[in-house]
Amino acid sequence: MNAEIIAVGSELLTPHRQDTNSLYLTEKLNDLGVEVRFKCIVGDDLEALTAAAKLAMRRSDIILFSGGLGPTEDDLTREAVADALGLKLQRDPQIIAQLEERFAKRGYKMTPNNARQADVIASAAALPNSLGSAPGQWIAGKYDGQDRILVLLPGPPYELKAMFETECLPRLRARIPEQHIATRILKMAMIPESQVDARVAPIYKTYTDVATTILAGGGEIQLHLRCRKDSQAEAEARVEELAEKIEDEMGDAIFSRKGETIEQIVSYLLQMRGMTLAAAESCTGGMLAERITSLSGSSRYFLGGAVVYSNALKTQFANVPKSLIDQHGAVSREVAAAMAEGIRKRCLASYGVGITGVAGPTGGTEQKPVGLVYIALAGEEGTQIVERNFPGDRQRVRQFSTQQALEMVRRALL
Ligand code: ATP
Repeated sequence: MNAEIIAVGSELLTPHRQDTNSLYLTEKLNDLGVEVRFKCIVGDDLEALTAAAKLAMRRSDIILFSGGLGPTEDDLTREAVADALGLKLQRDPQIIAQLEERFAKRGYKMTPNNARQADVIASAAALPNSLGSAPGQWIAGKYDGQDRILVLLPGPPYELKAMFETECLPRLRARIPEQHIATRILKMAMIPESQVDARVAPIYKTYTDVATTILAGGGEIQLHLRCRKDSQAEAEARVEELAEKIEDEMGDAIFSRKGETIEQIVSYLLQMRGMTLAAAESCTGGMLAERITSLSGSSRYFLGGAVVYSNALKTQFANVPKSLIDQHGAVSREVAAAMAEGIRKRCLASYGVGITGVAGPTGGTEQKPVGLVYIALAGEEGTQIVERNFPGDRQRVRQFSTQQALEMVRRALL
């Protein structure tokens, strides 16, 4: 079975409000084994809404509407769906009585426009709204000879979620054959997406029953594997088989297969080896320390460090010889290494990280352009330095730099 979600509301077509209801609904539908094939946002416009509803009824088994069920003139979902189905709206006296009672309980008299919320599409079942005034509606029937389920849900997220859980999930479960889904998320850091895909596509393409998606961002690649079968064991076995083949190909480039973050993996590894870390950060301004210390318990392995933005502080807090900065410049392989070694020594840590670069957008030169960053890792076995030219704005350059540092620590600990 497949589904379509129509989020209704002109405010969702502005930069000020985001459609988050459809994310929640997609997750719930996926859990039922239903794939969402289309999503759209339609403003408060009767003609556009009716057209969207008609189109959805032609191509989707389940159609969920969110929003536009309130009492005001611009709440048009009921009318549009009734028009699309060629059915009439009938005012339900029982709902009117419930609405009047609801207002009375709060010490108000119901204004006449609220009665619109009691307009129920002929053949629909009204769905009680435990947290708000507008009832939802459930319609199951044939459209052009095809079985269709249409559900009208309120827009406010807390009302929609409560109604979906209590009213829709049991109804959907009763109609959807039970399906079992197994998923895996394999994560990699600092490898180009195209390179990963070139290596793994020939593998996952042979698993047509496992949906594989590649997501990339912030120096991380995620491979999402998802398989639906009649039994959980079958689904698990199938994703596991594919995950193992991908792991054989990518080796230790894969840092997580259970959804952990790279900070968590670095934390496990440092604790497992009984080792500690310190960092001297220039262009990242403490972002690496922030990422590491976002995990509770990080004091067990992260000793601390220094934000050494000025040259003087690189010398004072990270033991970088002034002559080295004068000779090579603050953004250099030599200074990054000295920062890593200096902070390691000053903090008495197993590993020291040094990061220096040009985060931009100003400050770049021909020899040292924006995005040039040196990341160094010093340990007992010596110091390694990586030179990278990161693309993007200041925030992305900084994010990539910390990601690279975490990946270097992780690899050193393997
Ligand atoms: P109400 O009785 O509150 O008018 P309604 O069903 O008519 O209920 P809307 O008026 O469409 O709902 O939306 C009410 C509020 O809910 C919006 O202002 C918005 O903040 C939020 N909302 C609506 N749709 C969504 C959505 N798709 N995702 C997230 N929030 C939403």
